[in-house]
Amino acid sequence: MNKEIENVTIDKPGLSREEQSKFVEETTRKIKELRKFIKDLPEETPAQKAQKAARLDRIPEIRDAVKKVAKRLDYPIEKITISKRKETFTLNGRQFDYAGAAYLEGNRKGEIEIYPLGISIGTSAKEIEGVVAHEIQHQRWQKVSEVWAAENKAVMQDPEIKEQKWEMPGGRKVDGMKPDGHLRPPLDKKYPIYELFVDFSVTDLKEEDGVTEYSRDWWKAFEKGEATSTQTVHETFAEIAHLEQKFGVGVDKLVAVKPQWRKWYKRVQKLYEAIEKNENRERDLDEKFMQKMKKELPEMFK
Ligand SMILES: [Zn+2]
Repeated sequence: MNKEIENVTIDKPGLSREEQSKFVEETTRKIKELRKFIKDLPEETPAQKAQKAARLDRIPEIRDAVKKVAKRLDYPIEKITISKRKETFTLNGRQFDYAGAAYLEGNRKGEIEIYPLGISIGTSAKEIEGVVAHEIQHQRWQKVSEVWAAENKAVMQDPEIKEQKWEMPGGRKVDGMKPDGHLRPPLDKKYPIYELFVDFSVTDLKEEDGVTEYSRDWWKAFEKGEATSTQTVHETFAEIAHLEQKFGVGVDKLVAVKPQWRKWYKRVQKLYEAIEKNENRERDLDEKFMQKMKKELPEMFK
């Protein structure tokens, strides 16, 4: 192998003979380093190999879980793939294997990957279903939070809200937003999504902590400034979906989920369904669609 490299002639146009030989020298050195690095990599022990094989053997079972959960949660199955990659991450100094991942932005937005190598052998079939539900919930909440953010932006830019045309008892004129953040009628009807989430408070949610050991770990990391509130809220909603799937019951039956979380989770799910009721889920959430959906909302949230 070394010999082959040494015998390579490289004809890079525009390089002098000296530069060419320097280039070859440099490349050869890099290859040697790389080869040493690969040689020094620890070899998989027979036990590790067996464990890996056993995990991959569960792929058919995982595929069944994906089909079942995607159907129940009405998520397009073609967006979920089973990958043989192994990914790890660290939370509170503990290393975790990713069991799955949800792409929330970029050109793979909306896609989900499940990693059999990140699912330990003892994991029950129900738990695997929970993993799939967890990832789908990331996508659901992402969609809802984007719609919510767009509505917040519209509220902040609405000149009507800034106008001081609401008369208080005593004749004082005020703008369209109450001190508690709610909008005065008829603006509240114009922005039902804003109204739906106006009391959403990360501080309150933090008080009620997480719903599983995993989401509690996220809240600990949040407290230390090692995770953002966006990530932590994301993971907690995903864990509620995990529990619902695993135990086959709705959130109201889950004692681990405290009232605030229950309330917001239900709103998220309902709003997601209102968004998805639209026949073509790929289309942008344009103005016309938003108006149509918002008209249906009061009925859905009665
Ligand atoms: Zn997650």
